[in-house]
Amino acid sequence: MHMKFDQFGLDQRIVDAIASAGYTVPTSIQQQAIPKVLEGRDVLGLAQTGTGKTAAFILPIIQRLIKGPQRRVRALVVAPTRELSEQIYQTSVALGKNTRMRCVTVYGGVNKKSQVSRLRKGVELVIACPGRLLDLVGDGAIDLWQTEVLVLDEADRMCDMGFIPDIRRIIKILPSKRQTLCFAATMPEDIRR
Ligand code: AMP
Repeated sequence: MHMKFDQFGLDQRIVDAIASAGYTVPTSIQQQAIPKVLEGRDVLGLAQTGTGKTAAFILPIIQRLIKGPQRRVRALVVAPTRELSEQIYQTSVALGKNTRMRCVTVYGGVNKKSQVSRLRKGVELVIACPGRLLDLVGDGAIDLWQTEVLVLDEADRMCDMGFIPDIRRIIKILPSKRQTLCFAATMPEDIRR
């Protein structure tokens, strides 16, 4: 069965950006996850890097962000490393290029200033590593109370890296009424929980 990107009901601006990114056929995780995420359901996805999992969650997020309030954090992606955060950011910028979506990456090891000033100008999507995110929350530099979607990317790796207490803290700050998407390459019992 040949599924195409224009069958998801995504906005034409997104479909155009997908074409400019050079994607023609949705990958397996994209075929399975995109319709469910668009419906607003929570999704637990088993997917390695290289399977197209980033677009699987970013495309429905961009679709959501086209409508509704701007310049407030409405989607939060939490990832274990800067490298992964940057990759997710690049994908978001490429796929969101025809929309007004604003995004920022938030991670440690670099000066807070540019992250804080970008947040102050207003963004809809934050892609963050747990430590710096909590740091900026503590500084009052980021409001997460209007977050509609939380993505935990490479959740198994975050678990291995000891980020579970941080993730718990982050989840406590978010509205309980939200969509949660969790992606992992392996699905041990603690991730499921
Ligand atoms: P990811 O698994 O999200 O790290 O994506 C792996 C790579 O596949 C990235 O370089 C994407 O640009 C690319 N990619 C994602 N979805 C597709 C698709 N449907 N067709 C072709 N390439 C894709």
